[in-house]
Amino acid sequence: MQHEVLLELKDVRRSYNSGASAVEVLHGIDLTVRRGEMVAIIGPSGSGKSTLMNIIGCLDNPSSGSYRVMGQDTLNMQPDELAALRRDFFGFIFQRYHLLGHLCARENVQVPAVYAGVRKSKRDHRACELLTSLGLEERVDYRPAQLSGGQQQRVSIARALMNGGQIILADEPTGALDTKSGQDVMRTLQELNAQGHTIIIVTHDPRIAACAHRVIAIEDGSIKSDTINEQVADPLALQDAQAEPAQQASDKVLSEQPVINNQWSKTWSSHLDRFKEAFVMAYRAMLSNRMRTMLTMLGIIIGIMAVVSVVALARGASERIISNIAAMGTNTITVYPGARMGDVRSGRVRSLTARDLVALQGQPFADSVSASVQTNSLLRRGAEESNATIQGVSLDLFRVYGLLLKSGRIFSQSELDNKAQVCVIDDNTAKLFFPTEDPLGKTIIVGKVGLRIIGVLAPSDSFIIRGEQPTIFMPYTSVMTRLMNQNYLSSVVLRIKDGFSTPVAESSIKRILITRHGREDFFLQSSDTIMKSIEEATMTFTLMISAIAVISLVVGGIGVMNIMLVSVTERTREIGIRMAVGARQSDILSQFLIEAVMVCMLGGLMGVLLSYFVGQLIMHFWPTIVLSYSVDSIVAAVLTSSAIGIAFGFMPARSASRLNPIEALSRE
Ligand code: ADP
Repeated sequence: MQHEVLLELKDVRRSYNSGASAVEVLHGIDLTVRRGEMVAIIGPSGSGKSTLMNIIGCLDNPSSGSYRVMGQDTLNMQPDELAALRRDFFGFIFQRYHLLGHLCARENVQVPAVYAGVRKSKRDHRACELLTSLGLEERVDYRPAQLSGGQQQRVSIARALMNGGQIILADEPTGALDTKSGQDVMRTLQELNAQGHTIIIVTHDPRIAACAHRVIAIEDGSIKSDTINEQVADPLALQDAQAEPAQQASDKVLSEQPVINNQWSKTWSSHLDRFKEAFVMAYRAMLSNRMRTMLTMLGIIIGIMAVVSVVALARGASERIISNIAAMGTNTITVYPGARMGDVRSGRVRSLTARDLVALQGQPFADSVSASVQTNSLLRRGAEESNATIQGVSLDLFRVYGLLLKSGRIFSQSELDNKAQVCVIDDNTAKLFFPTEDPLGKTIIVGKVGLRIIGVLAPSDSFIIRGEQPTIFMPYTSVMTRLMNQNYLSSVVLRIKDGFSTPVAESSIKRILITRHGREDFFLQSSDTIMKSIEEATMTFTLMISAIAVISLVVGGIGVMNIMLVSVTERTREIGIRMAVGARQSDILSQFLIEAVMVCMLGGLMGVLLSYFVGQLIMHFWPTIVLSYSVDSIVAAVLTSSAIGIAFGFMPARSASRLNPIEALSRE
């Protein structure tokens, strides 16, 4: 029977750059391997065996010459095409096993099938069968560190067979084993060969080479001899004789063709499965470096916590101010003389008068209307004196601003009409001038005018009372005549009836006053506009602080990138192993990218939780501070942190995916 040529090397040369010159390590290798052969490549150390093996295993490309695997020229193949050859045809057995330390035996065996897109249930089943047939049924859940050298080598044989392992490449497979384990491994390889696997062993040990029917001696990068070992039966002849070799059940598992289903491996669910695997691998990697992962996250946690807290604080403050405005003044419109706030000519505009007040009072949308004249003056009582705000108002003002009395009464219409010398004092004034006695009925001096106190206001948040400064309320008529000697008003405040819209009321007021004054010599300010300006101010504040927080996030991102680069360097050997068993560049890229995104996303979530927790604590101990968390800001925080993961994880992930598999494998 004519046996198919599997591997064909023609004039293969490999040189390495050493300094300025290139050193040739393989000098024109011609070699053909047929399906079912068992070949030993023997030579002293440094003769180029491993270099040749790497080329045969598609881990490395020849510098010149041609290499065909099953008729396919590998010369111009892309890294992913070479990975596909490694995955689907080759099985590697290394001297030092090269198992992944954080995976158990069963998971290690499955790695090539993960990259081949085999369903989880199928590959799990096959991995267990393979391990059982290699006598490791008791050890499937053990990690490499819990297995002996011989057992680890058997796990790596199982891994080589996972995707079929038509061609098994064993590089000094017994080099690290004791004699007995070494013999076991060689026996297994012979059995596999008897079942039809093509086996190529690289060794410096003539006793190992003696197990193969064909022995190729290599010296200084050239083939010195290619001989047949008559002591070992020719496997090709044997296979011809037993076209249907009688197999035991366990052997059948070993020689069984892979469970790769090419149709399925291209589907969506296969991609999803590989993504899931990359996710699990990333998760395991994070777990195995808990402390470092945690420290990496710290930058992101702090950054996200800062952003979420600041946004919550700003929202809380603005909600509080707005609710205060709503509570105290309900919906008010104030009419001021002049063109706008701060207009220098507004002092000369004297057209706003008590008659305007009456005109506005009659409007259907007016709940209550109050005049206002303001001045500052010295307030005296006995030896005590203080600067105070004097508010000249009409009766309705107390309703307009929702001011409540603690004791006494507000002035009456007749007191207003008669310019009576009475006043209502605020809480500040009461505390300052009457710390121990009841102010009602007492007299207080404003400028040179004595006033009788008829009412005391309850403490209020209203902005008409400015902080600690004492404020007293007098009939506006009294202020205009007795204190200021003016006959026009500083402003008119109007409370809008519930159910009337502010813009409609505003346009009516404008129309009425323009008709009365003959021109627009006034401007309006409503609580709506105040609320809007507060919202705008908090927005600006939030944006500003967020910009600072974003800088801290970028710094956190750079930390992530840094650690990911370290992680790639540390796990170079793992990347090499994954590539040797057939991982594509995209598989490695996605594994590291997912890891970066997971670190950042988890950091983001922790930042949000921590911000919430600290916020609750702050609100508990300082009830005046309110933090208001919104779903938007939390979602934005998590999305931002994921984006940081992608942005800063990409560079390290890409450098991992572009590693050269051989260099990666040789890294300890
Ligand atoms: P063997 O496996 O037979 O011990 P190798 O194939 O590992 O030999 O190495 C053959 C020669 O190639 C050695 O002289 C070694 O120094 C050289 N060599 C191997 N890899 C590299 C490399 N990456 N860069 C430069 N020289 C290398």
